[in-house]
Amino acid sequence: MLKSWWAAFLDLLYPPKCPVCRTPVQQHGAWCQPCLAQVIAWREINVAGRRLSALDSCWALCEYSAGAKRVLQQLKYRRASEYAVYCQWLLSRLDAGRLPRIDVVVPVPLHAARQAERGFNQTELIFRRWAGQRGWPWAEAVIRTRATAPQWELAPGERRKNIKGAFCLTRPEVIRNQTVLLVDDILTTGMTLNECARVLKKGGAGKVFGLALASGAADQPSESTKAFTTSGSKAVPE
Ligand SMILES: [Zn+2]
Repeated sequence: MLKSWWAAFLDLLYPPKCPVCRTPVQQHGAWCQPCLAQVIAWREINVAGRRLSALDSCWALCEYSAGAKRVLQQLKYRRASEYAVYCQWLLSRLDAGRLPRIDVVVPVPLHAARQAERGFNQTELIFRRWAGQRGWPWAEAVIRTRATAPQWELAPGERRKNIKGAFCLTRPEVIRNQTVLLVDDILTTGMTLNECARVLKKGGAGKVFGLALASGAADQPSESTKAFTTSGSKAVPE
C-alpha cells in the first residue's frame, strides 16, 4: 500500500515519459506507440551464414538504432542504470512463446574490471527480472577471463581472434545437459555469443540459444507484428 502511494506520488512529481520523444505514457519504463514501432525488429540471426556454429539458434528483439541505441548507450556508457527499466519494458513486449523450452538463462559476462568500473552488468539489469518472471533460473555460469576490445572497434577479420578464449566456464553443474538461453544486450557479429556458447557446449550444455535485446545485424526479414504485443502501454510485465 505504502509502495503504491509512493509510486503515485512519484508519478505526480515525475510523470512517466517515453524515453525517446518524451511523450507522456502510462507507466514508468513504457515507450510510446510510434517509438516502439520504430525499434521493434524481431528477427532470427542467420547462424549458419555467419558461421556461428555453437549457437543452435539466435534472435534479436530490436533494431540497434535511433531510440534503442540511445537508451542502451545511456545505460552502458553514462552508467545511467535507471535506463534499464526502458530495456526491461521492451523485453516485456516479447511473446515468450516465440522461444523454445529453456532450462536456464546465462548472461554474457563482462570482464571483472569493466564491471567494477561500470558498477553493474547491463545484461543482468535488462534480463534477470524477465527470466525470473518466467521461472527460468538465472546462472552466471561463465566469466570473462580476458579484457577484450569492443568488437565494433575492430575490423571483421580481427573480431574472431579478439574474442577467442575470452571466456571460462565456472559452474558446469548448472548447465550440464541443460537447454541454455544465452543473453546479451547488443549483437553485432554474433561472435561474442558464439564464443560463449562454445564454452558452454564444451562444458556439457545441451542446446544453446542466443537472444540479444538489440542488433544492428540485418538478417532475416522481421516479423515484428507477430512477435510483439505492441498494443497498450498498460500491459504490465507480470
Ligand atoms: Zn516516443
